[in-house]
Amino acid sequence: MIQLLPTSRLYTKILRDSQYNQRGIRLPPDYFCLQLVIVAIFGLVIGSFLNVVICRYPAGESLARPPSHCPGCQSRLKILDLIPVLSFILLRGRCRYCGAAISGRYAVVEAATASIFVTCFYYFSFPILFLKYAVIFSILLVVSFIDWERQYIPNLFTVILLAWGLLWQLLYPGQTFTRAAAGLLAGGGILLLISLASKGGMGGGDIKLLAVLGFLAGWPDLIIVFLLAVCSGAVAGVILMLLKLKRRKSTLPFGPFIALAFFITSIWGAQIWGWYSSLIRPVF
Ligand SMILES: [Zn+2]
Repeated sequence: MIQLLPTSRLYTKILRDSQYNQRGIRLPPDYFCLQLVIVAIFGLVIGSFLNVVICRYPAGESLARPPSHCPGCQSRLKILDLIPVLSFILLRGRCRYCGAAISGRYAVVEAATASIFVTCFYYFSFPILFLKYAVIFSILLVVSFIDWERQYIPNLFTVILLAWGLLWQLLYPGQTFTRAAAGLLAGGGILLLISLASKGGMGGGDIKLLAVLGFLAGWPDLIIVFLLAVCSGAVAGVILMLLKLKRRKSTLPFGPFIALAFFITSIWGAQIWGWYSSLIRPVF
């Protein structure tokens, strides 16, 4: 199935090696589980930093100063208040000092980052691929929450993603440059066309994001990213309308769905192509 992916021989070998690891053939299973726990804790810590970025970057605040504080009473938070997820549960979602409600988003972002890191480690346990995708998915998580809360995607994050993609394309290509460039043009092009046809129904941030993710996923994997993004966005839109959380006219940010679609395609792209080719095989 891996052969279906547009991967260079080196990349295919790495993917095979990482699966070799996850089945515990070379590594004892206990050792692999211990590694997963360490990766999860690492993910929680990174998630806690991503929360700071999500809060402070759109407001134009420094990421380093002031130290973490309660937005209600400005009390400086101590180590015990800052343990990812656990502090939120122990404090029952309230500030220890003034009792103000803490947004559940903090715990969600931390838990999501840990889950993403564990998934990456499981599927790409080869360290260099884990690094590549952990960085991409962390940036996408930040972009998704900013887009969900503020309805825009800061250009800085799209530029960092593009630079990261170019770096990998130069140092350690997973596909030919032609396929990456074709993914970029197709990703940006299709949303640009939709934007023109719907007279601005698609934001500029979404167009740039899908173009950059098209570069990372490459052609033809970008097709899966696009289709999954549209389908998941439509399903979420209907569910939110049924739950009366969104009105028919209100817009749903598309960035989180593009990010989710890219995540699924990066991890299970080969399986999706395999499933698709098993569907069309009886016809031909
Ligand atoms: Zn407080």
